[in-house]
Amino acid sequence: MTGHAVVGRLAPTPSGHLHLGNVLAFGAAWLSVRQAGGRLLLRVEDVDIQRASREIEDGQKRDLEWLGITWDREVRRQSERDYTPTLHALHEHTYRCVCTRRQIREAGGIYPGTCRDVGHARGSTRFRLPKGAITFEDRRLGPRRVPLMSLGDPVLRRRDGVFAYPLAVVADDLADGVTEVVRGADLVDVTAAQLAIWRALGARPPSYLHSPLVLGPDGKKLSKSHGSAHVGHWRSRGAEPEQVWRTVLPWLGLPHDHLDQAIRDFDPTAGPLGPIIAETDGSL
Ligand SMILES: [Zn+2]
Repeated sequence: MTGHAVVGRLAPTPSGHLHLGNVLAFGAAWLSVRQAGGRLLLRVEDVDIQRASREIEDGQKRDLEWLGITWDREVRRQSERDYTPTLHALHEHTYRCVCTRRQIREAGGIYPGTCRDVGHARGSTRFRLPKGAITFEDRRLGPRRVPLMSLGDPVLRRRDGVFAYPLAVVADDLADGVTEVVRGADLVDVTAAQLAIWRALGARPPSYLHSPLVLGPDGKKLSKSHGSAHVGHWRSRGAEPEQVWRTVLPWLGLPHDHLDQAIRDFDPTAGPLGPIIAETDGSL
């Protein structure tokens, strides 16, 4: 037990229903913190969501509560925070970029650093990723090495002045005292870019655990297009949360159908490493 030294967070993005991939990642985040006797924060990540809706946010919170995923404190949502001080702290690592989405798409989809040494006075603000690779120890996947060239310099503030996720999430985890991040494996590369930002801030980053991706039968990441395979649907149809956990907990190597029973047995390295294929017809 490490007591209150451990601080985790649930960070839902209010853009749609909670699907099985979200349940898996939030369940793993909950189990990791509860096993350590730590604190779990809830932070709504709505900084650059086109149409963040309070209705969706409230629905997600009800879904989490229904599943038994409890949190100890809700911290300010991203849209209520000011990231200007963090942006200023990163000033010497940033530059302005005037490239359009279309230009980047035509360059192959990864931003090639066109504006790095031009010295534009306007445009979006990008973070200059260092050369080489970032290595880090993932609690589930083990040692990871991500070449930063493959990522493209992330936008920290859009040209319309809206702060972007890579800046917000690092600033929030630092401000909230988060010591461990648990989220889906689609964000492994994003983690590498974020670690470069942590380093530029001279701050100690949290540990990372990336839970397996959950894909639909079409091999694509679960999303709105996968219909009724989401928590709100099951909850409104009178399903029991145990039915959801009976599906999800084995993906973490846990033979349980209730979140509380799994605290003692949670092992971040257990369960499948690769992606999981889920039924998406709404059945459990
Ligand atoms: Zn550019």
